[in-house]
Amino acid sequence: MSDRHSEPKPTATYDEVMSANSDYATSFGDKGDLALPPARGFAILTCMDARLDPAKYAGLAEGDAHVIRNAGGRASDDAIRSLVISHKLLGTKEWFVIHHTDCGMLLFDGNTMAGLLEKSRATATFDGTKWANQKEEGGSPEGHHMAWLTFTDLAQSVRDDVERIRNHPLAPKDVPVWGFIYDCGTGKLLPVE
Ligand SMILES: [Zn+2]
Repeated sequence: MSDRHSEPKPTATYDEVMSANSDYATSFGDKGDLALPPARGFAILTCMDARLDPAKYAGLAEGDAHVIRNAGGRASDDAIRSLVISHKLLGTKEWFVIHHTDCGMLLFDGNTMAGLLEKSRATATFDGTKWANQKEEGGSPEGHHMAWLTFTDLAQSVRDDVERIRNHPLAPKDVPVWGFIYDCGTGKLLPVE
């Protein structure tokens, strides 16, 4: 039997997204005329956390800035690939690295993640202390070969990523790289020295 996914059927979420998009397109206005390069010339690297809305916390409209997101807002090779394209081909001149309080990346480490995945790919549960699989079937050892980029010290994770970006051989030396922690409790951006 093949282990490949079958074609999914539309779900309630699928319908909600399509409906919301239909409304959005109705009031799209003249945004079809926006230029490809970001008008305000900057890029944000931040976490995928659902509580963070960079457009709102940083005051962005369509066309303003690049927003690169991943789990943790980490300066992974792929995030750096995007930042380099953002500057080299699309002219951004300032970069913001924004991690946040209560980040899920503080709640596990790479070994835990790989161990969970080895037993099961289904969603695990967290009891406030540790993660557990509900069932142990259908796992894969591939997780042991991934860099999960977790961290234990939030401010240090921002410093590490700012440094990695600043020191990257493909990163321009004249682009300021700012580090911040977004406070999920207040909505404020706190600079990291
Ligand atoms: Zn996060």
